[in-house]
Amino acid sequence: MSIKENLIEIKNTFKNQDCLLVAVSKTKPVQAIQEAYEAGIRDFGENKVQELVEKQEQLPKDIRWHMIGHLQRNKVKYIAPFVHLIHGVDSFKLLKEINKQGKKVDRIIPCLIQIHIAQEDSKFGFDQKELDEMLDSTDIQSLQNVKIIGLMGMATFTNDEPKVKAEFRRLKNLFEALKTKNLPSNFELREISMGMSGDYLLAQEEGSTMVRIGSAIFGSR
Ligand SMILES: *Cc1c(COP(=O)(O)O)cnc(C)c1O
Repeated sequence: MSIKENLIEIKNTFKNQDCLLVAVSKTKPVQAIQEAYEAGIRDFGENKVQELVEKQEQLPKDIRWHMIGHLQRNKVKYIAPFVHLIHGVDSFKLLKEINKQGKKVDRIIPCLIQIHIAQEDSKFGFDQKELDEMLDSTDIQSLQNVKIIGLMGMATFTNDEPKVKAEFRRLKNLFEALKTKNLPSNFELREISMGMSGDYLLAQEEGSTMVRIGSAIFGSR
């Protein structure tokens, strides 16, 4: 099946047509992205800064580039001028660096806070305590060049559907609980980025607003 056919088939399975499809194009050539672009996709996700920058230079300028992977602080400067959304903000230090680089290029950079919902230790993200500490700190208020528009999470890599569903539900519940709090002015919570090729339907059932789908569109890596 072609990339276009895959996209149509995936969209047809969506439980919620308002959920944004972010096409994860990491490791795939620009021609593959071009093909998805011609099929109407404008949101693409990459997890490596260098690859993201190279593709951004070569492809149409109306593409919205999502940084979805672990982001090193010393690389934020390369994507700050154009990145549409940073999904994996996994530390307060990283958020401060994004703010600093946003200020330099006179942008307010949209970010999602990554929450550690999986059982594996290998996945990045805040736990409840770290999140509370960040929210209670006084300097979060001063970060005027970032906007926290939601949360992101990755479920455990397993076929155990009830387990994956429960992890997504935890993220959704945390999101709803956060929204009831008196948050700093640079918070405007509206997005939950959860779900990949193997679990996006479960994620949509649990309230995902953005799914990050790679291999189901572009083939295995
Ligand atoms: C690679 C990746 C995806 C997409 O994974 P697929 O299983 O290929 O859909 C989604 N999110 C993140 C953070 C990734 O690194």
